[in-house]
Amino acid sequence: MSTDLPTIELSTGALIPQLGLGVWQADEADTEHAVRYAIGTAGYRHIDTAAAYGNEAAVGRGVAASGVARSDVFVTTKLWNADHGHARALGAVDASLERLGLDHVDLYLIHWPLQNTERLVETWQALIEIQQAGKATSIGVSNFQPHHLTTIIEATGQAPAVNQVELHPRLAQHELRTFCADAGIAVEAWSPLGGSGAGWGADSKPNTLLTDPAITRVAQRHGRSPAQVIIRWHLQNGIIVIPKSVHDERIAQNIDVLDFDLDADDLAAIDALDTGERVGAHPDDLNLAAPD
Ligand code: NDP
Repeated sequence: MSTDLPTIELSTGALIPQLGLGVWQADEADTEHAVRYAIGTAGYRHIDTAAAYGNEAAVGRGVAASGVARSDVFVTTKLWNADHGHARALGAVDASLERLGLDHVDLYLIHWPLQNTERLVETWQALIEIQQAGKATSIGVSNFQPHHLTTIIEATGQAPAVNQVELHPRLAQHELRTFCADAGIAVEAWSPLGGSGAGWGADSKPNTLLTDPAITRVAQRHGRSPAQVIIRWHLQNGIIVIPKSVHDERIAQNIDVLDFDLDADDLAAIDALDTGERVGAHPDDLNLAAPD
């Protein structure tokens, strides 16, 4: 069991464990078990859920049953698209906290920017108030392009602490990472292993990253799994990484990555996979569930 996970200091001063467990597409029973096992047995201290995943209540039960103090676990949830707008956002965080059975989350994210800029600014303003009210220690965004970030920062003077985006060796997001670094925004990778094969939107593709020969060659050299090699690539690049699994063996395997290093040749071989290919929707294309 690992408890000395690396952390990243957010702009709020809060520390986020650099490796967490994602629970998208996990049903209630699987989620509760996975969260309890991840925290209580495997050593995770960071869970990533969202209102849209329909499993916040199970996350709350798993955290409570883990035997680890709430204050030692970093919980993220996200505001769903239908809840954009000032009043809706204020109601949405209360509903999420109620389902989670928590009085605050460590990180509250706007799940997608959508395409109404005026409303987006209102939503971000609501998150600032949510943070001020102590309902979220840190606030951030997900799937924001530089133009979305510029819009909300210029309108409110407050930058998000985190931007969670699709990011893996085939979509290394160098330009966005540089923009975020300059603005003091930590970058978090979704679909870090290349996804489950059933992602958002029309661009969803099966996972072929875990079997890519460049990855399996490095994995063989280290006597590790392809998933472990990809997770090390994220960690060594300073990215927050939240691989999803509902299987104990994989949950344990994905955190058993703190005792080996990829060398410069390994990193270069993986960096060469960056074709810009997405497994999920492009942020500027998706307007799913947007309010009227
Ligand atoms: P991942 O890249 O984490 O891949 C998950 C898939 O890989 C699952 O099918 C899982 O299967 C499998 N897997 C996990 N570990 C291993 C392993 N060691 N060996 C082989 N296969 C493995 O994809 P996700 O899309 O789930 O992304 C991770 C998290 O990011 C999500 O759960 C969610 O929290 C977040 N996310 C956020 C989005 C956003 O818009 N903000 C969008 C998408 C994801 P199994 O479970 O059966 O083990």
